[in-house]
Amino acid sequence: MRYTITFLEREYRWLTQHLFDGSNREKAAYALCRIAASGEENRLLVRKIIPVTAEDTLDSSEVHMKIRSISFIRAMKEANDSKQLFVFIHSHPRGFLRHSEKDDAEESELFRTAYLRIRTQGLHGSVVLSSPDHPVGRVWMENGTHAEMDLVRVIGDRFKFHFSSAGSEPVPEFFDRQVRAFGEDVQRLLQRLHVAVVGAGGTGSAVIEQLIRLGVGKLTIIDGERLEKSNVNRVYGSGTDDEGMEKIEIARRSAARIGLSTRMEIVNSPISYRFSASRLKTADFIFGCTDDQLGRSILSNMAIYYGIPVLDMGVRIDSQEGVIRSIEGRVTTLLPEKPCLYCWGKITPKGVLRDSLAQTDPQQLQELIRQGYADELETPAPAVIPFTSAIASFAVMELLNRLTGFMEGDEPEQEVWFRFDWSVIKRRNHEPDERCRCGNSYFILRGDADPFLDLTWRNESNEKKKV
Ligand SMILES: [Zn+2]
Ligand SMILES: [Zn+2]
Repeated sequence: MRYTITFLEREYRWLTQHLFDGSNREKAAYALCRIAASGEENRLLVRKIIPVTAEDTLDSSEVHMKIRSISFIRAMKEANDSKQLFVFIHSHPRGFLRHSEKDDAEESELFRTAYLRIRTQGLHGSVVLSSPDHPVGRVWMENGTHAEMDLVRVIGDRFKFHFSSAGSEPVPEFFDRQVRAFGEDVQRLLQRLHVAVVGAGGTGSAVIEQLIRLGVGKLTIIDGERLEKSNVNRVYGSGTDDEGMEKIEIARRSAARIGLSTRMEIVNSPISYRFSASRLKTADFIFGCTDDQLGRSILSNMAIYYGIPVLDMGVRIDSQEGVIRSIEGRVTTLLPEKPCLYCWGKITPKGVLRDSLAQTDPQQLQELIRQGYADELETPAPAVIPFTSAIASFAVMELLNRLTGFMEGDEPEQEVWFRFDWSVIKRRNHEPDERCRCGNSYFILRGDADPFLDLTWRNESNEKKKV
């Protein structure tokens, strides 16, 4: 089991300003969290930070502090009342990197109290910062033992990953030319990341090809479709003899042929199934390469509920009788506290309903289309490889930008938009709709909910898990 924690960049910045205020004394705060639990990872999601005030600090120096018990009892009560988990955070202004022996003794006491006072299911934890860029965390179990968190994520305009151990494994020579561009640390970071790709078609197969060649550590690919004749013109790794083959098998075959060290996890089922979508919970980022609106609505919710950035792609060619009217493409980065795909107008309730019923109940769909409650079914859209590949490349570039900041500007706009037939590229933002889930703090980093994502899922009883 792996333990990790995710902060929003805005909250994290505020936290570090509070902890490192120039006084050179230990300072502390509490975080209230929700959890994303799975068989491989328990991920704490920080939703609120409560500073320990000067008033509640009985004594402090550069190596210790003493807090009035009413201060943490109050925070624990709030955690219990709001069904959240409790995390204790403090600074080590002298730069001692980890929890000290004194911390061990004091936290053991503190977390016994936490388990007595908080009835929320899940884990509590603590984080110590020796500097704003060096957080180290651990979780406390109910039986009084503790385990290290191996990763602290800070998600916002930039994606920061603080691993507990500095990666020192040698970088294979295959990556030499990109190490010359971004350096060994970025290469090692890529080798430790878990990236999910939803959809292994035109854009998806190009994204997968690039992520493997970049040396990403683990790749989860979700797609339930088989290759059709008309896919060969743009699906990387496919050939004319592969008609009827599962697209994920084509991806797996490509990965095996390339032979670099990416671990592949493939899920042969659309994300409209809960067991399929819930695989995304352990990812560090998601590439959205699906063109159905139901899939896109699920991905929007993954960014809101779990704080996992989604790089969603779209390409649209408008052509009348073989004459191009327009060719547009986009890469939209979905983040918690940023507008979702509904707010951006990329998906609508009617379109989501259509794509949901098209999979589960085509008869009812026809009826709803007649009554005007669902959008008409779409005919196969034009698709040409340079455009799908260009958008895939820009999505992968956007990930590198969010990791390293190589593009200009500290606050990258949420969308990169292309008008290929005009040779125009723009970055742009959008206003959120206040009534939407994406702007409602109840849903932001809500983590595990029952049902998953508070959505109604299609019946799985007749389906076999195929992984
Ligand atoms: Zn300490
Ligand atoms: Zn929204």
